[in-house]
Amino acid sequence: MTLDEAEARDRADPLAPLRDRFSLPGGIIYLDGNSLGPLTKSALSRVRSVVAEEWGRGLITSWNTHDWIDLPRRVGDKIAPLIGAPSGTVIVADSTSINLFKVLAAALGPGPGGLILTERDNFPTDLYVAEGLAHLGQHELVSGDLHELLSGSVRQMSGSAMDVSRRPVVVLVTEVNYRTGARHDMVDLVRRAHAVGALAVTDLCHSAGAFPVDVTATGTDFAVGCGYKYLNGGPGAPAFAYVAPRHLQGLRQPLTGWMGHAQPFDFAPDYRPAGGIDALRVGTPPILSMSALDAALEAFTGVDLAQVRSKADALFDIFVHDLPDGVELLTPADPKDRGTQVSLRHPEAYAVMQALIARGVIGDFRQPDIMRFGLTPLYLRFVDVAKASGILREVIETRAWDRAEFKTRAKVV
Ligand SMILES: *Cc1c(COP(=O)(O)O)cnc(C)c1O
Repeated sequence: MTLDEAEARDRADPLAPLRDRFSLPGGIIYLDGNSLGPLTKSALSRVRSVVAEEWGRGLITSWNTHDWIDLPRRVGDKIAPLIGAPSGTVIVADSTSINLFKVLAAALGPGPGGLILTERDNFPTDLYVAEGLAHLGQHELVSGDLHELLSGSVRQMSGSAMDVSRRPVVVLVTEVNYRTGARHDMVDLVRRAHAVGALAVTDLCHSAGAFPVDVTATGTDFAVGCGYKYLNGGPGAPAFAYVAPRHLQGLRQPLTGWMGHAQPFDFAPDYRPAGGIDALRVGTPPILSMSALDAALEAFTGVDLAQVRSKADALFDIFVHDLPDGVELLTPADPKDRGTQVSLRHPEAYAVMQALIARGVIGDFRQPDIMRFGLTPLYLRFVDVAKASGILREVIETRAWDRAEFKTRAKVV
């Protein structure tokens, strides 16, 4: 697409005004919002006032006067409509990893001997947390191809493993693969999990805020997701956890901290779980970062995620339309089979990405040979993506990446 054509698309784009909600540095094209969302103007001013006023002046009284204590619930209720959840079913707390531990444990229930089925190419933290929990609770973890696992071969693998009358079974699935951008059909997977008597735990890290998500329609039992990716909550922003209404009553999880107690300020010696979603709370909420996430979510006010999705698809088409030789598209071409990132394969992916970053196009690298580009329509213009695809072509065709300085790996990639 020519830059003139891209500019015409931007003029006709109903989402174009949303870019003004962000505070983006000049001179760069940011294609890494799938890894760390950029700063919103609302978060910037909110963090300033929370630090200077609520903390600086209000001090400890702000727990009440600024209702810090219920922030995890309030921010959860702001995320709820983005994932198709009713109010009161989402809490914001801790990190995705920790929330995963809590909901997996809740899904498995109190006894030992449960079975966790997950994908071999799931995000590592999902695998590690499941492994740690399996070890702790004497559960069994089986990772592989979920479709195969659910279509019965697991029965041969582990005898009567799927006999749910004998053991709880939990299927842990990440909707969009962080490496390839491939997306599962969640309605189908959850239905198949339920058909074998299993509960479904869904990781929405690369879904929430990227496209319409509907946990109610998919019927997932539990879900977790990230605050700092598509939700733009800031580095290390707290994560969210969703519990289907049918599991809220009597909800139990093993990280029984005082904030998940029914009456934390009774300071009773024995734990009594809070009712509903608050039972997933553990300790004191990080008010500064939770306020940043709260304010950042205002970027979604009045936004139709279906429109966001269709713009992301249009950006995808522009970006992959005419890839240079030697670059392979790893992400499924069919929109229903993918999220909103583009993953490209190149033998020198790390160096190519460094050369792109040196030219102001920021994406990231994943082992062993993958470049990822997040297409985030709230702030990306058609002209940005058209330019980025031209710069990628130039870097590949001129071998601009072939310099020692682009091949030294940093600690964080
Ligand atoms: C980003 C991501 C996480 C991050 O977990 P943290 O605990 O926030 O570090 C977890 N799972 C998936 C699928 C992710 O993409």
